[in-house]
Amino acid sequence: MRLARFMGRRSAAAPRVADASLPASRYMAAQAGALPDTEALLALKPALRRSLSTEFGVESLAARICPVELEDDSTAIFALAEHVGSDQANELARRMEKAGYAAATPSRYVLNASLLLAVARDAFRSPQWVAQSAHGRGALAEAFHELVEWGVTNRASDLHLNVNLHEAESEVKYTLCGRYVAPECFRRMPTRTLMEMLSVAWMDISGGNGAVFDPGAEQQGSLSRMYAGREVMLRWASMASEKGPSVCLRLLEKNRAASIPPLEALGYLPDQIGMLEQALCSGGGAVVFAGTVGSGKSTTLASLIARLPADRKVITIEDPVEYTIPGAIQNSVARRLDADAHAAFATKLRTLKRSAMSDVLLGEVRDRETGLAFMDLAGSGVNVYTTVHAPSAAFIPERLASDFIGVSRDFLAMPGTLKLLVWQALLPRLCACALPPDAAAGAGAGAGLGHHTERWLEELAAAFPGPLELLRMRNREGCPACRKQGLRELFGYDGRSVAAEMIEPRLHPHLLDWVRHRGRGTHPAPTHSAMASAMAGAYRGIFDPSDIERHFHSFATESRLRGMSPSAAGGGEPDGFAQGKVLP
Ligand SMILES: [Zn+2]
Repeated sequence: MRLARFMGRRSAAAPRVADASLPASRYMAAQAGALPDTEALLALKPALRRSLSTEFGVESLAARICPVELEDDSTAIFALAEHVGSDQANELARRMEKAGYAAATPSRYVLNASLLLAVARDAFRSPQWVAQSAHGRGALAEAFHELVEWGVTNRASDLHLNVNLHEAESEVKYTLCGRYVAPECFRRMPTRTLMEMLSVAWMDISGGNGAVFDPGAEQQGSLSRMYAGREVMLRWASMASEKGPSVCLRLLEKNRAASIPPLEALGYLPDQIGMLEQALCSGGGAVVFAGTVGSGKSTTLASLIARLPADRKVITIEDPVEYTIPGAIQNSVARRLDADAHAAFATKLRTLKRSAMSDVLLGEVRDRETGLAFMDLAGSGVNVYTTVHAPSAAFIPERLASDFIGVSRDFLAMPGTLKLLVWQALLPRLCACALPPDAAAGAGAGAGLGHHTERWLEELAAAFPGPLELLRMRNREGCPACRKQGLRELFGYDGRSVAAEMIEPRLHPHLLDWVRHRGRGTHPAPTHSAMASAMAGAYRGIFDPSDIERHFHSFATESRLRGMSPSAAGGGEPDGFAQGKVLP
């Protein structure tokens, strides 16, 4: 009798003993039936009638275990292979028995994740489901794959899945060329499908917090997949928002050694590349990059490190490694909030200090822990390259010295600690179909142009004098080359390009004094020279001046700011690094 039960041959009429009366480990998963695909599920005899997960209040387990009723009134447990013999499955079997349900033979089945979810939500009967999963892959996994693939193909940096539980349809958006856009092909995404898709996708997450996708929690993790022959890492960050979970997936192509663009291609100007190369050659000290999220800081860092000569030993600590840099010893250290992550970082750092390297790329300085690491490394004579969030190059030391990060002001003000400060932005680059301002205004294009064009050009010239006839503006109608993604927002553009400002602190003692004395007095750099660098691009026809205004501030504001600055009033602005002069 006992053996028969183990073999799953117990008939519905036979006296039943709850599985859970046995130790959990005694249910042998091998005895469970298998339903490997939709065909097998549809061929099940007696046929599947409905999910009982609502009845037993176990919807939250639906991604792992689901109780079901079959057409002959008997019941079974469908589960993932690793859960079919779990304590939870045993407990559920006991409750089903207690509720008077007869167990089918066999009483448990193993299903894959997407099939299990479809069963749990009674979605398995829908024709789309059957049609799509007939290819052997779950429809949901397939649909998720499709969303990511579109992003990879179109070089999106992020995929955003914004579930709105109050509406029947939810939002699928991408960040493409720095713009937050919704492609027509993914409009009208059913909320329910999107939720199920996220649950299925989360199952492949590694290093995530939580065994299942939880719409009410902040979750983070990552997963790697192949898309069109390229290995792509998805970094998952979900936010439990008012309307429902909002998931942001950063798309990071792995092993991009071949595709690290040279600094020239990123949009750095020749004299700026000269400054970066000088910084690479001089020994010790830090090169620190700042910029907003998605401003391409890590790409520039990779490009910079790739320029180092072979006789330098380079070690990186990144979260995660984004580019394979030839010759560098790279480390991915996930900086989560838990104790394990802190321990892993500390261990890595200890080993790093005994590795006799000349150069270290420290992905980001963002808290006390990384702040200490920065001081430790930059103080020990190695070359440090890192990133920090700051509103301009001149504010980088201030950010490092903030209470949040806590790098010592005296240390930062010491000549040689900060070798080069760089702030960069990515601006949309004009397509070859761009137009001169009068033509663009004549075509009814250009925000705030029209009959204001002349006045606007005057303001532009007052703030940034230059050859106005070389300016170009976006052609909003686009051309065949820039219309291929089908996104109106991107018509007239051809990717993005860097606008950067650079400060060599040792040439600007006022800035270091200002850092040392806790920022007393006026900040020595009230305006952005990155705007001037962007305008140098505008005078070469690369950027639309109205995009530059949108990214920084209006030309009129720029003139007013300079009117207020101490240098314009004959005061003490140091060395002109903040002046709006257009770089050659
Ligand atoms: Zn075009």
